[in-house]
Amino acid sequence: MPVSDFQVVLGLEVHAQLLTKSKLFCGCSTEFGGEPNAHTCPVCLGMPGVLPALNRKVLELAVKTGLALGCDVEEKSVWARKNYFYPDLPKGYQISQYELPICVGGGVDITVGEGEAAVEKRVRLTRIHMEEDAGKNVHDVGGGSGVDLNRATVPLLEIVSEPDLRSVDEAIEYLKVLRAVLVALDVNDGNLEEGSFRCDANVSVMRHGARELGTRCEIKNMNSFRFLRQAIDFEVRRQVELIESGGKVEQETRLFDPAKGETRPMRSKEEAHDYRYFPEPDLPPVRVDAALVEEVRRTLPELPRARARRYQQELHLSAFDAGLLVSDRAIADFFDATLASYGGGPEAAKKVANWMNGEVARLANDTGLPPARWQLTPAQLAEILRLVDAGTIGGPGAKQVLDAVFRTGADPARVVEEKGLAQVSDEAAIEAIVDRVLAANPGEVEKHRSGKKNLTGFFVGQVMKETKGKGNPAVVNALLRKKLV
Ligand code: ADP
Ligand code: MG
Ligand code: ZN
Repeated sequence: MPVSDFQVVLGLEVHAQLLTKSKLFCGCSTEFGGEPNAHTCPVCLGMPGVLPALNRKVLELAVKTGLALGCDVEEKSVWARKNYFYPDLPKGYQISQYELPICVGGGVDITVGEGEAAVEKRVRLTRIHMEEDAGKNVHDVGGGSGVDLNRATVPLLEIVSEPDLRSVDEAIEYLKVLRAVLVALDVNDGNLEEGSFRCDANVSVMRHGARELGTRCEIKNMNSFRFLRQAIDFEVRRQVELIESGGKVEQETRLFDPAKGETRPMRSKEEAHDYRYFPEPDLPPVRVDAALVEEVRRTLPELPRARARRYQQELHLSAFDAGLLVSDRAIADFFDATLASYGGGPEAAKKVANWMNGEVARLANDTGLPPARWQLTPAQLAEILRLVDAGTIGGPGAKQVLDAVFRTGADPARVVEEKGLAQVSDEAAIEAIVDRVLAANPGEVEKHRSGKKNLTGFFVGQVMKETKGKGNPAVVNALLRKKLV
């Protein structure tokens, strides 16, 4: 494969919608959905003569993000007009930041590779700037197309990385870590499907050992990890084949077509917009003074990597378990609350983590529900673990209880009762079954007595089958040991 002769180079531009109630320059609601154009006013409709006024919350969130990502937060930054015509942009320009963005530098630390081979890597950030979102063209309405400006002027942060990423896996890890940080900061909801966290991927290839980066293509607006992977893989192959057949990659902007699994050209460098950026005359430069920085610094929460480190050091969780838990702040919070309710040290933590990353994660995946919409509460998960500890239910029973509680929110003890999942620990009852099983298999008993000790498993299996999986394994094993000597 010729692809292996080449090094992939990626740089990402992430657009993250800021979690403010109102828009960047007016008081309209930022709520997702709603009747088209319900959340608009003369300012965000782009009427002539109106004046934008900066939403201070946006500034705070931008500063918060900059501090969390180790950027230099600039004392003075400047709004700029990016001029272009598009139906979803009635005023004919987007208010953004260009030459002087609010944050420069900083980085995102990611873990590359797994297990023993895992290494830490810092992906440098070029800049972070604030800008307004555009509206949306809606097609096939009433026999034509329309424009919905609910999204117009919703505040965004654009976070631009250096071309430091060297594979799709690294790119996805970078996005996951960045997303977890933004969500932990309460700056962004991390929702890729609704487009509140989306990215443009810049892709180039170069021969191994080459000194200069290749020419990049930019793939616009990726809003799922799966599509991002497909788009980058396709683009890398396309560029390698082009170079191998004597051609040259042209710098251009491309779109990914999920139905075909291909990227196709949107515009080339020659047709690239000349945006004629100039400083926005209706807004003064943005000033961030030391007092604001200090005020915001005090509100910084524990960030995912620090939380993972704490889980490893204080609770002795593995890096893998800790990493899974902190990948979503709501999951980590659920874990903490469950552990607080269940009580106990590292041993309890390991148990809770296993359930969270195992059965609970599986159910969340199957149902596609985020933690906020689970029926299960931390107190209920803790209760299920206590039912296991008390021997009321066994492992298989616990899974069934969890499944039911996750879907309905019913009381765990009640589920055990209603579904008859209680474990049988009654010695007399189990002894009767053990005796029956031994009597039915005299040959196996003989073999076991004459040394074939691995037949124990066979007897345990038979007894468990008779109890319909509800026999307490400890009691079953103890009885078999006693009777098989
Ligand atoms: P533009 O306005 O064209 O999008 P930006 O400076 O905003 O330019 O973003 C450029 C992005 O492209 C950055 O994320 C940067 O890391 C990335 N990039 C630059 N050169 C390359 C390259 N040769 N290969 C891959 N990515 C690149
Ligand atoms: Mg770009
Ligand atoms: Zn408005």
